[in-house]
Amino acid sequence: MTTTVTPTATKNKGSLFFKPASGWWARAWMEFPDETGVPRRKRHVFKLDTFDRDLARRKLTKIMRAYHEGSLEREVRAPATTPATTADYLRAWVDGRKAAGVVMAGDESNWLEKYALPTIGHLALVDVRPLHVRRILADAVQHGLSRESVRKIRGALNRAFGAAWKNEEIPENPVSRVDVPADAPVDDRDRVILTDAELGAFLASGAVPLLFKMLALLARVFGGMRTAEVNRMDWSLVNRDDYSKVSFFRAKAKRGRGGKLQELIVPIELRQHLRAWHESQDKPEAGVVFPVTRGATKGAARSKGTTYAKTLRKYLFLAGVVRHDCAAAADHERRWDIVKGEPRACCPRAKNDPLFFDTTASRRVDFHSFRRAFASALADAGVNEQTAMHLASHADSRVHALYTMRTTKMMVIPASAVPALPSKWIPDGSTSGAALAKTVMISARPDRFERSTDGLEGRCSIQLSYGRVPVAR
Ligand SMILES: [Zn+2]
Repeated sequence: MTTTVTPTATKNKGSLFFKPASGWWARAWMEFPDETGVPRRKRHVFKLDTFDRDLARRKLTKIMRAYHEGSLEREVRAPATTPATTADYLRAWVDGRKAAGVVMAGDESNWLEKYALPTIGHLALVDVRPLHVRRILADAVQHGLSRESVRKIRGALNRAFGAAWKNEEIPENPVSRVDVPADAPVDDRDRVILTDAELGAFLASGAVPLLFKMLALLARVFGGMRTAEVNRMDWSLVNRDDYSKVSFFRAKAKRGRGGKLQELIVPIELRQHLRAWHESQDKPEAGVVFPVTRGATKGAARSKGTTYAKTLRKYLFLAGVVRHDCAAAADHERRWDIVKGEPRACCPRAKNDPLFFDTTASRRVDFHSFRRAFASALADAGVNEQTAMHLASHADSRVHALYTMRTTKMMVIPASAVPALPSKWIPDGSTSGAALAKTVMISARPDRFERSTDGLEGRCSIQLSYGRVPVAR
């Protein structure tokens, strides 16, 4: 009995069929020159020596790749000596993720190709040990990757090998024995966020093109749109009568090629700008809202890698939005160094401007800063977690919590938590005796207060000054 599983697709990918006695077989139309050198097209059949469908699929993929690369004869002649490698497995795994519409599959492919395959690609899947995984992660740290990036590489490996383990292809998942290296550097400096006044100056400036004002407004005001999201905005999803509603595809989603479609009501202040932009584009009915503005691809959608960080900083600077006490003359014309992607120094202090340069405490402003500002504003406004997470499209409540933690509200100690303190009290004992005598609680034991601090670091100074803690003299 013969069961055909995959019908031969129009694109030559070959197909699999199963025989109960001998397992999986592959067949494919292929063209090879005959003895006289004339190309002959013929259906070829391959015995795959496995009863496992996933393994059979990977073998078929490998055969077809070899065929298209012109190296099939070598592969087929010695199939026993070239078992499926980890590279075959990982690539097939990523292909499966892409086919299932997993949005992060592209990133996973990049991480695995760049950091994992050089070390384990040639090994058989069962031969990959925790020490290999440890080496991959250590190499990534050596490359200067941040802890967050190393964690992502480990995550991709863990999912890939976890799938093989669940499928009983390997006895254990080697990644589960490996942690992210402790020495992976953490960069927890905050990104600089523009104040409302700075954003206002940016929007009011004649030096900034309308395009960048629109992008900044959308990212700051409209659901904290990400670069990839504004790049994919389409006029067909905009209410073009009164610009009151806009739908757009969110960039991050676990499944579904386009991400989640989100509809938001446009804040009144933003509608006139959206209308102005629509009219400046000759009121299209459909098509990308922010197409490429010049060059060969003018009018087309911006490519995936498009970022606005540098251009944003350029126009901020040209608009005179700076965070240093500028010593340049009032009529100084600000200029941007396109090659270095930084301001042409207007004065010596420009080098330390946190808007344009990383400092020990912060990272320079980028397009994502607007999204952070939006999330912070939601947290500051005390919007409930569910609404804030939905508006900003945060899938993880921990991300929202981060913003909430940094609001002013979370820095204020409520008055009810502060004990009633005497109006005058002297913590360092250096004041005159007359002043000490006036303080109510400390004055009783001024000598003990001084000595009692020895060996009590970390104790609350109020406890010490009240003399409540029994201390050995
Ligand atoms: Zn300056």
